[in-house]
Amino acid sequence: MTTLLIADHDGAALSPATLRAVSAARALGTPIDLVVLGGAPELAAKGAEFAGIDRVLRVDAPADLSTEAVAALLKSLVAARGAGAVVAAATSTGKDVLPRLASLLDVMIVADVVAIEGPNVFTRPIYAGNALERLRSLDGVKVVTVRASAFQPAAQGGAAAPVEEMSRAECEAIIGSAVPARLVSREVSETERPDLGSARIVVSGGRALGSAERFDEVIAPLADVLGAAIGATRAAVDAGYAPNDLQVGQTGKIVAPDLYIAAGVSGAIQHLAGMKDSRVIVAINTDPEAPIFAVADYVLVGDVFSVVPELTKALSAS
Ligand SMILES: Cc1cc2nc3c(=O)[nH]c(=O)nc-3n(C[C@H](O)[C@H](O)[C@H](O)COP(=O)(O)OP(=O)(O)OC[C@H]3O[C@@H](n4cnc5c(N)ncnc54)[C@H](O)[C@@H]3O)c2cc1C
Repeated sequence: MTTLLIADHDGAALSPATLRAVSAARALGTPIDLVVLGGAPELAAKGAEFAGIDRVLRVDAPADLSTEAVAALLKSLVAARGAGAVVAAATSTGKDVLPRLASLLDVMIVADVVAIEGPNVFTRPIYAGNALERLRSLDGVKVVTVRASAFQPAAQGGAAAPVEEMSRAECEAIIGSAVPARLVSREVSETERPDLGSARIVVSGGRALGSAERFDEVIAPLADVLGAAIGATRAAVDAGYAPNDLQVGQTGKIVAPDLYIAAGVSGAIQHLAGMKDSRVIVAINTDPEAPIFAVADYVLVGDVFSVVPELTKALSAS
């Protein structure tokens, strides 16, 4: 039995979530094959140096593969390699592909796992993170997405694992005409800032910011000075103050940075579900009773429009 670990990458680099997912996959106790679908050839070589990887399979997959095609390809790899588990970080790609794979294999998806005890027992948050479920899966193949922030990154730079290649022709032959869907286009928002999902510091703004202009004026300078990613509440996103991909929470991104600054955020349960595992939480709110204060390590009762620029100024000067 092996575990297939699906590498998460943007074509040019493996994501930090992949390194953390290696640690999760190791807890299953079986050899790990890292599957790198497409992207630059160097990605496979890089992944081969992750401690705990036994083999790397680089698939020369076309960039326009649809989710359906990737799931079909993985199903075939599961059979060919006798895999007992398929693991991916719970990134947009992992959350897209693995439920479909589970459906093709007729097994349950074990989603958003935060702890793994051996090959069958998994812990995952339920009810928007208000309870932890410990479950035993009896499926022959475990299909698992892991919350990367819950696992330590694996070491890098060790002895390289062997890299095998699957050619474009082999890949196309597996997918063949069984999967007529093709990806037409992909829009990626370009940003100089760290990726929200893996940033060490996140500055989030809420409805209190009042407009997109004020959100940018107040939140962006603080994020700039801290080298932080920007996040937002759903209320701020729905009001058009921030783009959708910045939403933190139950229906947005799950983050667990070293420092999370919540400015003008009430702390609704759905927002907390996405950030309450942050190491240090700083909350700024005019309401001393704001629920966000219950999870915050440092609270500042004050107006975001004066407090945040003051903080930014003080940090710039230091
Ligand atoms: C199914 C479902 C899923 C959801 N998923 C998400 C999710 O993923 N993420 C998410 O964030 N929400 C989510 N929500 C919405 C959530 O319930 C809240 O409505 C939302 O988080 C509130 O956002 P907010 O804190 O920005 O706004 P509000 O609740 O309006 O809070 C604004 C806060 O700003 C404070 N404030 C006002 N003026 C100032 C000022 N000048 N200075 C400082 N503080 C000030 C107020 O005291 C208040 O606490 C979801 C809801 C549902 C039903």
